[in-house]
Amino acid sequence: MGCRSAKVLPSQSDIKNDPKKKRYVSVMQSLAAFAREREHQEELKKNKGGWFSTKTKSMVAEVKQQEEKQETYTDKFDARVTARYHIKALIGRGSFSRVVRAEHRSSRRPFAIKMTEVDAPQAREVCAAELAVLRRVNHPNVVRLVEVFQCPRRVYVVLELATGGELLDHVISRGHYTEQDAARALRMVLAGVGYLHSLGITHRDLKPENLLYYHPGVDSRLLVTDFGLATFGGAGTPGRSKSPQSGEVTGTSSSCSLRTTCGTPEYMAPEVVLRKAYTCAVDMWAIGVIAYILLSGSMPFEDDSKTRLYRSIVRGKYSFRRNPWPSVSNPAKDFIRALLESDPGRRPSAQQASRHPWILATTGGSSSRNLHRSVSRNLLRRTPRNSSRTKSAADRSISKQLVPVLS
Ligand code: ATP
Repeated sequence: MGCRSAKVLPSQSDIKNDPKKKRYVSVMQSLAAFAREREHQEELKKNKGGWFSTKTKSMVAEVKQQEEKQETYTDKFDARVTARYHIKALIGRGSFSRVVRAEHRSSRRPFAIKMTEVDAPQAREVCAAELAVLRRVNHPNVVRLVEVFQCPRRVYVVLELATGGELLDHVISRGHYTEQDAARALRMVLAGVGYLHSLGITHRDLKPENLLYYHPGVDSRLLVTDFGLATFGGAGTPGRSKSPQSGEVTGTSSSCSLRTTCGTPEYMAPEVVLRKAYTCAVDMWAIGVIAYILLSGSMPFEDDSKTRLYRSIVRGKYSFRRNPWPSVSNPAKDFIRALLESDPGRRPSAQQASRHPWILATTGGSSSRNLHRSVSRNLLRRTPRNSSRTKSAADRSISKQLVPVLS
């Protein structure tokens, strides 16, 4: 929905083309199927040897099929996992993983279990990166790791379950949506990302799909998830600092040198596109892109041609002309401008951004206009683009694409 940017990895093109929602297996569906099966078992008993309608037969077959599916599915889980958790339903699939809803057998509490097949080196790399980060973090706006089961071919990561859906689904499902709501969401993103940066972690794939609400209520926490591209490093010092002598805003020196070209193209900072050394300021750029989407339902940088997309990112070419921008406040636009700053040294850090007057809602300048209609219309109008996430092994292909842009 909306600005979904699917991550694309070569062997997963079939998965990529499926809208994730289609792959959801709802618990309600399985419960309904279970109830139907009971009903029909009763009917079968009563009519033993008798005649059954085609409908009855097909329903029984459907239930059987579902059961088989569930069994094959649960079979994929190691006995140690199923001894502790009851596997309930598939939530979604990632490039190397499947995420299921599970229930802890003794506490009956729900969790998410991410199962990754680690045969392929790339999958191993992504899983290791994700675990390294998850093992370090503990923050209300970062998804929490519960426990890990490591097997030779599969890794099962038990996580707190987010049931509130992705950031943009949340926006669309509301009837009323204002700048203050967008600022509230961004405050939580900044808190989570600021915490990661304070630990020296750069996420490198911040986008609305990786921001999940803990529960469906309006007061829910927002969680930063998906650390497959995250890395320890890049903890240089993003953000503007005052020069002690002049008091002018200057770029700060950076102690880090991340170089891997990765991320989701539409959210990549210019320094990543240009294949320069970069810092955690790349996450701040991505938050700027997310803020733009949250306030308009459209993307600041978008093009079917990757070359043109990268060119517009490098030029920092975006506009506040189309609807609903005329009704968006200047402080909100100023917040986005600050983050979509081409020079990473001049981009605010998460801490600085969280003190922006629009985020703090200290100015009267923030508009209380209901943006729901125009933002959700723009989000729904968008067709999912073929944007791709690239990572180390895929660097070569993206580098090739970048050559014409940069030369
Ligand atoms: P990729 O592996 O390419 O990065 P992805 O980020 O979509 O893709 P996963 O992180 O495996 O892959 O997530 C698969 C699906 O599971 C997504 O729809 C995601 O929103 C959902 N999901 C992941 N973690 C949780 C969680 N803790 N609670 C609820 N849903 C989750």
